[in-house]
Amino acid sequence: MNRRNRTRLALAAAVPLILGVAPGGASYAAPGEPGQGSCKTADDPSWEGWSNHAEVVHQLDQIEQTSKGRVQVDKVGETQKGRGLYTARVGTGDRVILVQSAIHGNERTGTEALLGILRDLGSSNDAATQQLLQSVTLVAMPMVNPDGGELNRRRNDISWDEVVARHPQLAGAPRAWYHSLQSDGINLPGFDLNRDFNPDLDYVPQPGDLPGRQEDAGFFLSPESEAIRDVYVGLRDEFGMVDAVVDLHHMGPCDRLTGGSEQDGRLISVALDYPPLGVNDGAAYKAQWPLLDQDSSRRYALAAANGIKAAYGNQSPAAAVGRYFHPDAREFAGQGRSAFAMNGSATVLFEVRGQADDLGQKLHGMLIQSVRTGVESMIAAMASGEVDTLDGDDFFELPDYGWDTESD
Ligand SMILES: [Zn+2]
Repeated sequence: MNRRNRTRLALAAAVPLILGVAPGGASYAAPGEPGQGSCKTADDPSWEGWSNHAEVVHQLDQIEQTSKGRVQVDKVGETQKGRGLYTARVGTGDRVILVQSAIHGNERTGTEALLGILRDLGSSNDAATQQLLQSVTLVAMPMVNPDGGELNRRRNDISWDEVVARHPQLAGAPRAWYHSLQSDGINLPGFDLNRDFNPDLDYVPQPGDLPGRQEDAGFFLSPESEAIRDVYVGLRDEFGMVDAVVDLHHMGPCDRLTGGSEQDGRLISVALDYPPLGVNDGAAYKAQWPLLDQDSSRRYALAAANGIKAAYGNQSPAAAVGRYFHPDAREFAGQGRSAFAMNGSATVLFEVRGQADDLGQKLHGMLIQSVRTGVESMIAAMASGEVDTLDGDDFFELPDYGWDTESD
């Protein structure tokens, strides 16, 4: 999720207290601010170093070829603008994990992390990799919103007329609440795709359900969310269930860990979360969706956090891992991670600090590595069975990062 706008609103109110604002609007940590390291964001976005859609497709093709049959790449759909949506599958194990990235088009750290994971799993011949691939099947969707990606923005690129052309029964219905006429300063309409999911995976959009509300399920109105849903359903039919679904994102650039952790004050690297399903840990959903298991999501998230800390050490900036903003009442039933969790999957949200254009290349490299290590740690914990033995309550021991400054 993109919390940049909300974060900047919150920061604007707090500027006199904690921030110096440089000419041109770039924000710097003020001298004497508690914590470690400054937070500088660029107002002149640089997209150097991020793979665009054509480059991702090319890299997937190369990975498939050099893997000599180990990695299988398939086209599973097309965006409104005709860009291909792809899965890359590796491993033959009976536990399956689906990992997607860049559903918000300008959040691409996970894309690079997934390409690195696929490259390694497709070519490494050591015993540990072989064992991993016998235990787990990884299905990666490295870039699920390329139309948004090409515009360097969060939303995809589809008009309401185009939506109605896809779903003629919606003629005359109000626009879905999560469809906008513009975003990120670009006057082209589109969806926040991460509100377009419904736990009823057979759901067909109904005019009477529109426009809907933030706390309710979405409507599968866009080709990207339909493609992700179809991949999920195909895996569920093949494996009986999809063990885990992981969604890779970016968040605000300047959040710091709080709450008494040993990294207090340090800029957060990765925030993790389980599904935001309202009060009492999704209790309202459990009668209709008995497979919902919030604890399993927390165990997978914990496996990621533990793996990152083990790889880099508790004091490393790369291991400044915390819990994503998640007050008890937070409710987004239309997010993919919520819909798939109600179908029995453990689902984990990764958020790395900073939008893709906020930070320098050195930080990009560190964050890509942190995400990659987190995803690899979950896969390893699936393969070994460790993820089943963790105590999900330990997830709550992870630090947060100043949730009291947030408004929703
Ligand atoms: Zn996002």
